[in-house]
Amino acid sequence: MDEFKDDIEYIISNAKKGGIQRFIVVGFDIESSIKAKTMSLNYPEIKPVYGIHPYNTVNSSISMMRELNDLVKEKKPLAIGETGFDFYRDISPKNKQRDFFEAHIKLASKYNLPLVIHTRDAFDETYTILKEHNRFNDILHCYTGNSDDIKKFNELNIYYGITGIITFKNSNLRTLVKEMPLDRILIETDAPYLSPVPFRGKRNEPSNLKLIFNTLSESLITNHQDVENILLKNTKNAFNYDFDEC
Ligand SMILES: [Zn+2]
Repeated sequence: MDEFKDDIEYIISNAKKGGIQRFIVVGFDIESSIKAKTMSLNYPEIKPVYGIHPYNTVNSSISMMRELNDLVKEKKPLAIGETGFDFYRDISPKNKQRDFFEAHIKLASKYNLPLVIHTRDAFDETYTILKEHNRFNDILHCYTGNSDDIKKFNELNIYYGITGIITFKNSNLRTLVKEMPLDRILIETDAPYLSPVPFRGKRNEPSNLKLIFNTLSESLITNHQDVENILLKNTKNAFNYDFDEC
């Protein structure tokens, strides 16, 4: 999120011009979670999420979960995350990723909040840990799984976060979204990463959400207004928050 520190007001107004009114800023370590909190205090249209990303568990100690707990008490987030498993980059040992994932689950359950889950090359393990802990209605951010994974995760009433990957030439997401329950689809930028076509490789920003929205609508072959209403409703349900009241 440091990528936006010099032009945050421009980023917000640019997004608003395109009809994007609310923003969710997701922490990936303690420092960025604190920044998410600060941003949400400075800009009421920004909502925070606190967590330690699987990559960052490598340099973190489990006692840091206490700091996340304090943050939740200071300013309630919409969710807990990013947490999860990343066995693709394998930056942090699996055991450590698991310890943190479980600690995030505990924190989310304590405050009755959903989880924002990052999972790469670890769909089975992610499904198992969520099932073990009786977790439902969590958010699988930046979905990159296959058709069989969708069948399993549907049992957990999971929400699927669709990013700019859906616009990539070779992406199978345009087909896969048709297998997801309509009331479980969300769109997200994952900014500053994963800029949609034609901005691949550039800094991603909230205004690009429109491009993801357009490709999703075309893939679902439903009219844009319907998809917009569905996504708005899904976002409210996923985060159990009425974004109208800011
Ligand atoms: Zn992620």
